[in-house]
Amino acid sequence: MGKRRGPEDILYMQWDRSTTIGIAKVSCTFCHGHGTRFRRNGSEAPCDCVLRAIFRACFSRFRQCALSSGHVGTVRLEFCRGREGRRTYSLKREEFMADFCLVSRRTLDDQEYKIFRFHHLLGADWRLCCRRLEMDRGDFFHAVYRIEKKLGKVFAELQPYPLYPLRDYFAGVARKEETGLATSMFGTGARVALPLSA
Ligand SMILES: [Zn+2]
Repeated sequence: MGKRRGPEDILYMQWDRSTTIGIAKVSCTFCHGHGTRFRRNGSEAPCDCVLRAIFRACFSRFRQCALSSGHVGTVRLEFCRGREGRRTYSLKREEFMADFCLVSRRTLDDQEYKIFRFHHLLGADWRLCCRRLEMDRGDFFHAVYRIEKKLGKVFAELQPYPLYPLRDYFAGVARKEETGLATSMFGTGARVALPLSA
């Protein structure tokens, strides 16, 4: 079991217009599509629309993974940017879903996590959430906004393995110790389908 990460392990990614402009909301009244805003000290910070877009991209991938989770998982052999650049194998989809849930649990406080669980993970609409959590509509949507902003930031800044950009996450970054077993069993570039229980 891995060591629990603390805040000291979170290194901040470089937020500037080149990293945010592609995902900012053009109609955003704060950044007008540039994706950054200025802090009081003059430094640049990502706009909320960027952080929420990052959350939504990760959430959408999580839902896709969850929808296909009844199917057979694919173990992939991958060339990695690991210490030795060797091959490793992983159940990427399952790994992503686990990371998405664990990081969210660790990032949100208890009340935020309840909302996240009901609304995002279990799919309850705002009426059901408000009734269950005894909240009014305004407070609920403010909380959802805050949760998505908070998680988007952590998904992009988490080190050593950010969930976003998804392309990099799924591109075969080495996440586990390489195993000689996978290499010797399947050879270069092979893929093998195993049941999830395997
Ligand atoms: Zn914005």
